[in-house]
Amino acid sequence: MKVVVVGAGYAGLLAANRLAKKVKAAEIAVINPRPHFVERVRLHQQVAGTAVAAAPLTSMLCDGITSRVAAVDKIGDGSVALDDGTSLDFDYAFLAVGSTVQPMPGSVPVGTWEGAEQARAALAALPAGNTVTVIGGGATGIETAAEVAEARPDLRVRIVGSAVAGGFSHRAYQRVRSGLVRLKVDVVDDGVTEVVGGIVHLRSGAAFASDLTLWAIVSGVPDLAARSGLKVDSEGRALVDEYLRSVDDERIFVVGDCAAVPGARFACALATPQAAHAANTLARLSEGRKPEPYALRYVARAVTLGRKNAVGQFTRPDDTLRRAYVTGRTAVVIKELASRGGKYGARTGTGA
Ligand SMILES: Cc1cc2nc3c(=O)[nH]c(=O)nc-3n(C[C@H](O)[C@H](O)[C@H](O)COP(=O)(O)OP(=O)(O)OC[C@H]3O[C@@H](n4cnc5c(N)ncnc54)[C@H](O)[C@@H]3O)c2cc1C
Repeated sequence: MKVVVVGAGYAGLLAANRLAKKVKAAEIAVINPRPHFVERVRLHQQVAGTAVAAAPLTSMLCDGITSRVAAVDKIGDGSVALDDGTSLDFDYAFLAVGSTVQPMPGSVPVGTWEGAEQARAALAALPAGNTVTVIGGGATGIETAAEVAEARPDLRVRIVGSAVAGGFSHRAYQRVRSGLVRLKVDVVDDGVTEVVGGIVHLRSGAAFASDLTLWAIVSGVPDLAARSGLKVDSEGRALVDEYLRSVDDERIFVVGDCAAVPGARFACALATPQAAHAANTLARLSEGRKPEPYALRYVARAVTLGRKNAVGQFTRPDDTLRRAYVTGRTAVVIKELASRGGKYGARTGTGA
């Protein structure tokens, strides 16, 4: 059985490694545009210089899996076309190309490896007293602003978002906000309309100068599925059946951020269980057994506030907020274990 895995992020690697363990006869090829795995949940640390968010792809793959450094241009009819002009045939494929960013002109995105590298270099070159503006009031924005503020206390750091930390319950929200203030981050609840000539313009009409403006919003997915003629939702995510297979082609499993699973948001915490489920499904099918439907389940949402503080908010399986939350060292340890667990699960093929 020939299997091609498109994208070596959390979902792609977990699917490939799990399948290699479960279906010994599978010939698995992983295709990724760069020779390393990007630990996206640490990209804000890559920017601030507090961690290296990449590991060689070879160190992340089980024996027997081959890898190709290339981008897939088209998938369909049992074949993938690569940007180097070659193609690979498959019996089954896993589409796991993740999500992307659409940065406002004048800003540098932190949500991709290339953007984070650009942001890291620009930040390292900033002299003391300069101002960094982080656009995005969600988890990526909060983590980026806090990480930069803690690593570079000589800079002025500002976070701007229409509702900074709005995704938390009132008490957890207060802990996130006070954590940012403790790190001397200026919190601005407003939308950004444009960034021109180093000036950030806000919806309210206010404007301020910014020496480095970071775009910390992850939105949209690569257009590979749409370009290949697979049915997609309004965000470009490929439509899937209850077993996480493309509704157009049962040979293509779609997992992670690029899968249009109803109720799913972009999260490593969802990408890995989806990949595990899809690999299990293919293993079952190869044994002539019936597949089981995938069930979405949330557990928590969490943000780090630098290296010494964090806030974790527990959720119900449908992602609605529970009252319970944790902060401080306990939350730091839980969040760190979750981040390490994501990478470990991808490397070993283990996970929910
Ligand atoms: C700063 C930051 C912090 C985060 N923190 C958390 C967190 O705490 N908890 C959480 O649950 N989530 C978090 N996330 C979100 C999480 O990182 C993503 O949801 C997760 O990476 C999705 O995994 P994936 O495997 O679907 O995609 P990715 O990890 O994005 O991997 C996709 C891979 O496919 C490759 N690819 C793209 N196009 C092609 C192509 N045409 N051909 C071949 N390969 C291709 C990409 O280059 C990439 O290597 C965070 C994200 C950021 C940016």
